[in-house]
Amino acid sequence: MTRLDSDATEMVAPSPPREHDGSGPRAVLLSSREVPLGGIRAMAVHRTLPQRDLPLVGAWCFLDRFGPQRARMRVEPHPHIGLQTVTWPFIGEVRHRDSIGSDVVVRSGALNLMTSGAGISHSEYSVGDDEVPLDALQLWVALPDSRRHGPPAFERHEDLPVIELPGGAAAVVVLGELAGVSSPASVFTPIVGAEVRLPAGAHVRLPLRPEWEHAIVGIDGDVDAVASPDAEAIAVAPYQLLYLGVGRDGVDVSSTEGATLFLLGGEPFEDDVVMWWNFVARTHEEIVEAREEWEAHSPRFGSVAGHGDVRIPAPPMPGVRLTSRRRRL
Ligand code: MN
Repeated sequence: MTRLDSDATEMVAPSPPREHDGSGPRAVLLSSREVPLGGIRAMAVHRTLPQRDLPLVGAWCFLDRFGPQRARMRVEPHPHIGLQTVTWPFIGEVRHRDSIGSDVVVRSGALNLMTSGAGISHSEYSVGDDEVPLDALQLWVALPDSRRHGPPAFERHEDLPVIELPGGAAAVVVLGELAGVSSPASVFTPIVGAEVRLPAGAHVRLPLRPEWEHAIVGIDGDVDAVASPDAEAIAVAPYQLLYLGVGRDGVDVSSTEGATLFLLGGEPFEDDVVMWWNFVARTHEEIVEAREEWEAHSPRFGSVAGHGDVRIPAPPMPGVRLTSRRRRL
């Protein structure tokens, strides 16, 4: 996934002073926004992270959903730094090619995980030349300082653990750890990403870790979340995110008709991050350098076989310094 928009106005807002110590549970419902995605034919995606007041949930720093829609996806080669991309399809097949020689097709039930380290480039195409039904999540995980300068890597996982939760729900542990069960995928900070399927009539308590922050994202169906025992249920519609904060050992969710949600969480991230275009960094200067190296065809980003000279150029830098944002919820 690439960002056609550089989201400049949003990314350069100065960080406000911390108004609270950042701890404690929250129950804040946030909606996605539709943004155009790069490609020969524009596709719209729903972007749920980052939000103006919520740049990160743990190390999760980006969440796009494309679909369900009929589309011909052609995201030409583009660079990344400082992150992992997590591609989790629901419908359709996406072909991934990258600058370390990967060429794979990912479909529902399989995880594509690309670790950029200091630099990688990749492309993402739907399979075939026609418009096809597509629906997938793509998330980014910010890499900690100990890994973000390292080599690029790519892995695919087709055999992810599924756990049964009391109340009849099943959870696929896509990344990290849930209820003591770990995904085989490589992670570099304490984190969870899990698809949770609620059958009709289910009432389930999702286990959470009090020292982590969490959020749930509606995928399909009706989800009601009860964030504290005396609180009203909050309906989490598809494309919406309910931010739960830290300090919880669980959250109660239910569905009348049956639903799927995605659970995000992790240890609050070690640093404030500066995000611009496809780059996750710590400073304005790091972003400028990565942008210049992509534009100069630096070996830092390699090249993706099969695309000739076709690639997505970086947008111009905004005329002001990029700064990090902090959570204001
Ligand atoms: Mn990408």
